[in-house]
Amino acid sequence: MIKTGYLILGAGPAGLSLACKLKALGEENFIIVEKEETVGGLCRSEMVDGAPLDIGGGHFLDVRRPSVNRFLFEYMPEEEWNKFTRDSRISVDLVPPGSSTGKAKTYELHHPFEANIWELPKSIQKRYLDSIAEAGCNVGEPKPVKFVDWIRWKLGDAIASDYMIPYNTKMFANNLNELGTYWLEKLPNVSYEETLASCREKHAQGSQPGHAEFYYPKKYGYGEVWLRMGASLGDALICGVAVKSVDSINKVVTLEDGTEIEAELIITTIPWNSFELVWAPNRIKDAISKLKSTSVNITYRPKTLDTEAQWIYYPSLDLDYHRILVRSNFAIGSKGYWEECRSDRFKEAEGDVTFRMDYAYPLNTIQKVDAIAKVLDFAAKSHIIGLGRWGEHNHYNSDVTVDRALKLAASLVEGSR
Ligand SMILES: Cc1cc2nc3c(=O)[nH]c(=O)nc-3n(C[C@H](O)[C@H](O)[C@H](O)COP(=O)(O)OP(=O)(O)OC[C@H]3O[C@@H](n4cnc5c(N)ncnc54)[C@H](O)[C@@H]3O)c2cc1C
Repeated sequence: MIKTGYLILGAGPAGLSLACKLKALGEENFIIVEKEETVGGLCRSEMVDGAPLDIGGGHFLDVRRPSVNRFLFEYMPEEEWNKFTRDSRISVDLVPPGSSTGKAKTYELHHPFEANIWELPKSIQKRYLDSIAEAGCNVGEPKPVKFVDWIRWKLGDAIASDYMIPYNTKMFANNLNELGTYWLEKLPNVSYEETLASCREKHAQGSQPGHAEFYYPKKYGYGEVWLRMGASLGDALICGVAVKSVDSINKVVTLEDGTEIEAELIITTIPWNSFELVWAPNRIKDAISKLKSTSVNITYRPKTLDTEAQWIYYPSLDLDYHRILVRSNFAIGSKGYWEECRSDRFKEAEGDVTFRMDYAYPLNTIQKVDAIAKVLDFAAKSHIIGLGRWGEHNHYNSDVTVDRALKLAASLVEGSR
């Protein structure tokens, strides 16, 4: 039986940041365990067709958290990153008003949709403006509780039907009403007045989405910084063996090769349903079974596209994928692009270079908030802390998981003094 102070499950951004920060604070009594041969989780990259490809999907480091950036630059200095201004677009198929053929045409506008309809022809702008003016939030209707109703209430029927409903269906779930609305407040907030002003003044107005500016490595994929963090951990990092079970009474973790590790505190960043939580009562097992997620396939295409966008969203239900990442516009000197597609929509063709991430998006279902609260409460009483995208089952970006890991490391070290 191996014994340690802190046992960290999973070496994605959350686990690695926690381990590296503990070490930086002088706490070396920890072990970190990862099931894959390489660290980085969803943020891993591989070389494909002569350039890095982010196998967990398009990954960019937001500039919004300078303390997180400074921490990551200790492992990969800022000079090794390029800084970009976001250029992301939506490709939408619309039948132009008054069309004699009734045939759809493809239009491209910047994201977010409601701030950039000014880029569309005037007759189409009017259709969206009229629809937003009649949206529930603008005519004093109460906030709905179902996802689809909420989207119509917030953005109007036209943007809902042309973009938000098909896009979210492709990305998250065939039945969108399984999702709650508690997380939608995070969407960019653009009022009717701001949309109107943007059409008049011909530039986006209202709050903008994350990654307005972001970093991407000059020579490598996003995976490089995590590899360097992993390398700094020496023997404390065990790769290539999955966690099989966690004994919540004896604080013993059993790995798939039979190794047992006893810890004073276990920090899990891995999905709750990817291991057995021994001794958990049925109500906790039931809560874990309610934590849903989706898988994603990332498929490389060698063609270099004629666009300046770094990524483009595709709401059309005729296409399997929901987003493309134009690699040649952020991995400088590279060619090609990749498609991101929810795995249960993905149809693999012969010769496809594709990577599947089994755990990609934790789903914000109606039941999730209550379920994860129960799990984390039970875990805390058993000296187990949930951290990161899977440990907290929350739609965090990597900068948020790093931030949370840094704060946890500081509080653990502080608390042990
Ligand atoms: C398509 C897509 C695009 C994204 N774009 C961005 C972006 O542009 N910018 C951004 O900041 N974030 C982005 N994110 C979010 C980012 O991927 C996550 O915030 C980040 O990876 C979370 O880190 P984590 O360590 O919590 O989880 P993960 O990265 O998922 O790491 C979990 C680790 O646990 C390991 N593990 C799982 N099960 C076991 C087991 N049983 N035993 C041992 N180990 C196990 C996994 O192999 C993995 O290494 C994106 C995510 C997706 C899916």
